[in-house]
Amino acid sequence: MSVLEKHNDLSLINKMPLFTNIQHFSLQDGPGIRTTVFVKGCPLRCPWCHNPETQSPKVEINYFIDKCIGCARCVEICPTGATHVEYHNEDAFIRFDRNKCSGCGRCVDVCLEGARERVGNNLTLDEVVREATADILFFIKSGGGVTISGGEPLFFPEFTIELAKKLKQEYIHVAVETSAFCQWHYFDELREFVDLFLVDIKTMDPGKYRDVIKCDSEVVFTNIKKLVDSSSAVRIRLPIVPGFNNTKKDYEAYVKYLSTFKTRIDVDILPFHSYGENKYQLLGRLDSYKYRGVNSMSNNDVIDLVKMLASAGLQPGLNITVGGVIGVGGS
Ligand code: SF4
Ligand code: SF4
Repeated sequence: MSVLEKHNDLSLINKMPLFTNIQHFSLQDGPGIRTTVFVKGCPLRCPWCHNPETQSPKVEINYFIDKCIGCARCVEICPTGATHVEYHNEDAFIRFDRNKCSGCGRCVDVCLEGARERVGNNLTLDEVVREATADILFFIKSGGGVTISGGEPLFFPEFTIELAKKLKQEYIHVAVETSAFCQWHYFDELREFVDLFLVDIKTMDPGKYRDVIKCDSEVVFTNIKKLVDSSSAVRIRLPIVPGFNNTKKDYEAYVKYLSTFKTRIDVDILPFHSYGENKYQLLGRLDSYKYRGVNSMSNNDVIDLVKMLASAGLQPGLNITVGGVIGVGGS
């Protein structure tokens, strides 16, 4: 099965996603004040991902070890033995084997200390619409709307199309944040209901896309071209990651690519930040997090890319932001 076939595995396409959050008053996910819907599930594996809780489509459990008092209520209730007691000499330790965890959430329900938290909520489409449209007055006043993000919204194309359609029926501005790794016909259906596509480009190197991100870059770039050619509004997001895509050669490749479009494309440069590290710890994945201990980049660290894009005709603050603060007019 090819990577794209795997991505479009029917078992996921027809499924409702779980949700990690519906975030109100977001200012970095499109114009104006926005509500951002985070779906849980993504076919890509960016090793720097700062929302690791959105990668798996399944329920996961956050474990706040500093809150745990060792009462073992979770051990008694756990049906799979994922949570168990281990003894070392005279001392007992609570252990959590995530490979055995079914995500049933019983340990969350019995923990009186708040040391366990379910990640991934079940919501119906109507519940998502109700929650996402609650701030409609703020959208009207600020020129904002709803952003469907994740995870990867197009990992669940049928849901994303239905949600965008329902929001558009309410005359709400709809943005979709995506890696563009999806069969084109889903984008084609979605275009009618979406005002802005925020598309991540991870690198211009097909080999890095394939080997590191686990994704066919030809699909990504073909979709971006088709979106732009069909007059959809596209805003490119460039996550800049130390040691992965922050050399002069990488920057030149971005500028060369962006210069190929006849219409001007706005760009958000997103310097790497380390805020996600704590999330890896709560999910029990800190040991495999490749950017553990790597410092956040500052805006100054990407100034060369800003200058190169400016030389190619894009205006900082107008067509280029650093950090994606487009809701309040760029930074
Ligand atoms: S129930 Fe909560 S506080 Fe008690 S051992 Fe389990 S995680 Fe720790
Ligand atoms: S979610 Fe269920 S299976 Fe997983 S540790 Fe908690 S009680 Fe056990």
